[in-house]
Amino acid sequence: MSPRSEASRPELAPYAAQDTLTKGRVNAEPPAAPRGEFQRDRDRIVHSTAFRRLEYKTQVFVNHEGDHFRTRLTHSLEVAQIGRTIARMLNINEELTEAVSLAHDLGHTPFGHAGQDALNESMKDHGGFEHNLQSLRVVDKLEQRYAEFDGLNLCFETREGILKHCALANARELGDLGQRFIDKNQPSLEAQVANRADEIAYNNHDVDDGLRSGLLSEDGLMESRLYARHHDEVMAKYPQLTGRRKTNEIVRRMINTLVLDLVTTTQANLEQTGAKSLDDVRNAPPLVGFSDQIREQQQELKHYLRVNLYQHYQVMRMTSKAARIIQSLFDAFHSEPKLLSPEHNENVQRDGARAISDYIAGMTDRYAMREYRRLFGVEEISV
Ligand code: MG
Repeated sequence: MSPRSEASRPELAPYAAQDTLTKGRVNAEPPAAPRGEFQRDRDRIVHSTAFRRLEYKTQVFVNHEGDHFRTRLTHSLEVAQIGRTIARMLNINEELTEAVSLAHDLGHTPFGHAGQDALNESMKDHGGFEHNLQSLRVVDKLEQRYAEFDGLNLCFETREGILKHCALANARELGDLGQRFIDKNQPSLEAQVANRADEIAYNNHDVDDGLRSGLLSEDGLMESRLYARHHDEVMAKYPQLTGRRKTNEIVRRMINTLVLDLVTTTQANLEQTGAKSLDDVRNAPPLVGFSDQIREQQQELKHYLRVNLYQHYQVMRMTSKAARIIQSLFDAFHSEPKLLSPEHNENVQRDGARAISDYIAGMTDRYAMREYRRLFGVEEISV
């Protein structure tokens, strides 16, 4: 076993995160060799309860609308896939990129962004709710898997990557981990890659799911230069192609273009700043990014998706219903904690409204709907 002061993976780029140079875990543990510290983190995330619940949490479409739409779980797996590809091309730490990617959405409420907005509104007099901060809370406090500590006791670098953004007021409460928001420093390249992989994943799978659902049309999507360019490329090569195969050929080309552009631009940024260590990366401006041209086209596609998919009236009907469920559950538990099971009630006695927020944020879509029916459904008066 190599001493903890040496790089365990000398083949990685000098600015990559090294397992053996981690800033460590809150609770000291023996080294994770032969797995490596970040692989251990990744494994702990995969075994967590919050990770399994992602299967039944909405990304854009509620889970029961169709078996082929993305859920938060399949979204997270796609982020990890794209993230690992980019990490490998940049010769940085794939395991850390994967750990951050798999954990990045653990704190999401049921029903996607509508759920988060509703919970934030309900929590406005109790410190608010922010899914990013909640992801950190899940891995730091809420998972109960170990005899000796709460949470998963992950490495600093993994936790730093999970906390993508953070209001200054919250950052001041987070000690070491919050310091970078106060100093305006960056996280590791691996965390920056996971963040961009998230963006690449959702833009592309939302095009795919949007077309599949019939809420988006091909004609409409031609307004996006990114889509139009790859559409024309596919049609030139396969003029007869239609349906799912055509969409898949377009989407996979879009992902490829974005990944290659990100890698090339990031390599150029690294060269330009001359970063030689993880500390250099932390002190530099964000180094992982797209070229101006591709960034603009990504923004254009994002805008198109916002107007035509996320604000589609059928999606809005779903999200407004979801928001009402979250709000009603919160109000009911807040005004009468005795409606909660003894275990959750005990948490509320100790942590107040935050414990209600933890309980609701942890719910899957279907569990939230079931709780709603149990509390408010007049057809079900039995226990
Ligand atoms: Mg995400």
